[in-house]
Amino acid sequence: MEIITSPAILQEQCLSWKSQGLSIALVPTMGYFHPGHESLMQEGRELADKLVVSLFVNPTQFEPGSDLESYPRDPIKDTEIAMLHGTDILFMPTPESMYYPDHATWVEVPDLAQTLCGQARPSHFRGVATVVTKLFMLAQPTWALFGEKDWQQLAVIRRMTRDLAMPVQVIGMPVVRENDGLAMSSRNAYLSPEEREAAQHIQLGLRLAQDLVAAGVTRKTSVLQSAIREYWQRNMPSAREDYLCFVDPDTLQLAAEISGPTLAAAAVHMTRARLIDNLLIQL
Ligand code: AMP
Repeated sequence: MEIITSPAILQEQCLSWKSQGLSIALVPTMGYFHPGHESLMQEGRELADKLVVSLFVNPTQFEPGSDLESYPRDPIKDTEIAMLHGTDILFMPTPESMYYPDHATWVEVPDLAQTLCGQARPSHFRGVATVVTKLFMLAQPTWALFGEKDWQQLAVIRRMTRDLAMPVQVIGMPVVRENDGLAMSSRNAYLSPEEREAAQHIQLGLRLAQDLVAAGVTRKTSVLQSAIREYWQRNMPSAREDYLCFVDPDTLQLAAEISGPTLAAAAVHMTRARLIDNLLIQL
């Protein structure tokens, strides 16, 4: 495995592979690897001739005053994990090498970026779409792998790739969870033992809604929302809801009824961590 920090050198290497007819899979990450990241690496390794993993805590997707400085980092362990999964290039650029001081170009998908996580983080998806576009230009991937845990991010990237005819196949991968249902996340490291115990109920609350639909109790999302909130209040009273929404999985428009596949999406604040999760409810 080669560790590359220079964007220009990454691009030169990937363009050279492409000219030899080799396919490339890209896994963009912010590091502090866990099995969720590893599942993306494994799939990328199977799909392509060359696997590029990027590790970049992208400053433009953090709101002012959020956890950019304290975001968990462990580059040595991450390097070992990337190597274990047969990564060809681990790309670890500095913010200065990714953004010129007068960087002025942004990629925006406002229709999908303003709801859900975009309400509390208005410039987040602009930062994500811009850095992912740049990573696509540098790594020239045939496939790019993203987790369904960040469903809205995946929807933004799919739309951006389609609208701008980017020659990349975007692959969404299932959420990897702890045994009790908590979605794995680098930010779980912020949880106290009590919060870690309580955090399982984020997903279990969403599953309660699915059970109510499956049992024919209701399809009204306002009723489901109340049931989840009541469950959360009972089981994780110290957590504070950021949002709990039922939306169309592609357009992210709010759904009043479950009349087809519907995404239940939530964000919850613990003391130091803001955790997100979702569940696709099928009829
Ligand atoms: P991050 O480092 O948190 O930006 O995540 C990098 C990629 O890993 C994103 O595409 C995430 O959606 C994906 N990812 C993070 N957590 C999980 C998980 N628990 N299961 C599957 N994919 C995940």
